[in-house]
Amino acid sequence: MTGRVTLVGGGPGAPDLLTVRAWRALQAADVVVADRLGPVEILAELPPHVRVVDVGKEPGRHPVPQERINELIVEHALAGAHVVRLKGGDPFVLGRGGEEVLACAAAGVPVEVVPGVTSAVAVPGLAGIPLTHRGVTTGFHVVSGHCAAEPAAHVSDAQITPGNRASDTSGPLDGAALSCVRDGTATLVVLMGVRSLGAIVAQCLAAGADPGTPVAMVENGSTPEQRVTRARLDEAADVAAARGVRSPAVVVIGHVAAAGLLEGTSERRLAGAGV
Ligand code: SAH
Repeated sequence: MTGRVTLVGGGPGAPDLLTVRAWRALQAADVVVADRLGPVEILAELPPHVRVVDVGKEPGRHPVPQERINELIVEHALAGAHVVRLKGGDPFVLGRGGEEVLACAAAGVPVEVVPGVTSAVAVPGLAGIPLTHRGVTTGFHVVSGHCAAEPAAHVSDAQITPGNRASDTSGPLDGAALSCVRDGTATLVVLMGVRSLGAIVAQCLAAGADPGTPVAMVENGSTPEQRVTRARLDEAADVAAARGVRSPAVVVIGHVAAAGLLEGTSERRLAGAGV
């Protein structure tokens, strides 16, 4: 009899940021296929019969390619197992969860999704950075620093709108992301952005962004190693290099990233933000 797959978002890393539904799915699993990011400590607390398969990726190193992960979860499910695919954050936020659902569907394997606490929102939040704040900004935009300028392979030219076309100022950010920073229209949240931070900063400045725009980089959010680094936009790459900022980190660009915003002591350099 065919088993099933539960695609579980595990949150940013702290075991107690796992949802109750996620925890129940893990308890009921036969096989857990787990990533490097997310609540890895929880794996040691699973019942002894649960088989754990580690497909964790390091930046720039992919021990188990995505296609193989897709095959693995399908194979175990076709063999009758209840497979939990445990992913960091939310499965559908830059997590390739959609591809895993499609692989299951193609093989006739039933699949259920358990949403997770995404690092895009939770990691800034844990560092005291609200992505929206009354009088500062009413929206946020989440992008990958890794491939933001590359439209998905199946998007034809006809579907590329000004919002998702790479801007004239070349770099990792697309036009919509760039205008968030340049015009202060929304907070920009960059995942997988450490390696391309220099290029992102250069692109924003070349597009005319205020060099004093606040930037916060939050590493290892929700873990004991959580660390926050703040800088002006024009100094962000140098400060990150000097402090040795490393992946995983969430980069927040915009006035909500100003130090002391929630203590009421922020300089609130809002003149350029149109508020
Ligand atoms: N699906 C995940 C994101 C996967 S992309 C989610 O919803 O959170 C991986 C990127 O997420 C990392 O490069 C980093 O930018 C971010 N990230 C994930 N966990 C993090 C953490 N604990 N602290 C800081 N950044 C984290």
